[in-house]
Amino acid sequence: MNVTFWYEATQEREPGENGVLRAYPQGLAAAVAEAFAGEPDVNFRAVTFHDPENGLPEEILENTDVLLWWAHVNHGDVPDDLARRVQQRVLRGMGLIVLHSGHDSKPMKLLLGTSCALKWRDDDRERLWTVLPGHPIAKGLPEYFELPLEEMYGEPFDIPTPDEVVFIGWFAGGEVFRAGCTWQRGRGRMFYFQPGHEAYPIYKDENIRQVLRNAVRWAAPSEIGPAPFCPNSPPPEAGH
Ligand code: ZN
Repeated sequence: MNVTFWYEATQEREPGENGVLRAYPQGLAAAVAEAFAGEPDVNFRAVTFHDPENGLPEEILENTDVLLWWAHVNHGDVPDDLARRVQQRVLRGMGLIVLHSGHDSKPMKLLLGTSCALKWRDDDRERLWTVLPGHPIAKGLPEYFELPLEEMYGEPFDIPTPDEVVFIGWFAGGEVFRAGCTWQRGRGRMFYFQPGHEAYPIYKDENIRQVLRNAVRWAAPSEIGPAPFCPNSPPPEAGH
C-alpha cells in the first residue's frame, strides 16, 4: 500500500526558535512516519509543498493509494490544478485523510463543497470520545482518551453531514467538535481528523497513531477506477 503524507513544512523551516521544532525536533513528518514503522505492507513517503511540483507530480499522485494532507499557512498557495487532481483521484478511488488545519484546504473544500469553517482557540485540553466503537477507524481505541494540550476546534463546523462521526472532541473550555468524520466521494473514502496542531507533539501520542493506522487501512481502495464518463450505451438485453 502506497501512503503519501503531504505537508507544508513551512513553519518548521522558519529560522530561529519555532514551535514545530520544539514539539518535533526531527520535524512533523518523522513523527507521522513512526506511526507506520511497524507496518511492513505500508510504503510510507513524505512530500512537502516546497518540493518540485509542490510535492505531488503526476507520477507520485498516480502511485498513491492513500494520501494524508496536513496544511496550515499555504492553503491559498496550492495550485488549483493540484487540488483538482487530488479531487479527481479521490473520485476514482484514492483514500484521503485530511488532518487538523487541513480543514481549510482546497482539496477538502472541493470534495465537500462547503466552507469547512469552524471556531478555534489556542491551548486547551481535549478529551476525544470514540462514539462509533466497532468502526474500523476506532479499532483498539479506548472509550475516550485525552490530549493535555491541543488547539480548540469548535462547532458549528460547516461541513456536509458526515456519513459517520467516529470521534467527538470535548474541550475543557466547554466546546464540542465532530473530530473524526467520514465521507464517501465517488469511489473514494475520505476521513477528516481534527487533532494535530503543530506546536504540540500530537502525532507522538500512541492513540493518535492508532487512529492514523486504522484510517489508512479503512481508506485504502481495492482498486483505482477510470475517470467517470457518460457513454452512450447500447442495451445489454439481446434483441431490444
Ligand atoms: Zn493548528
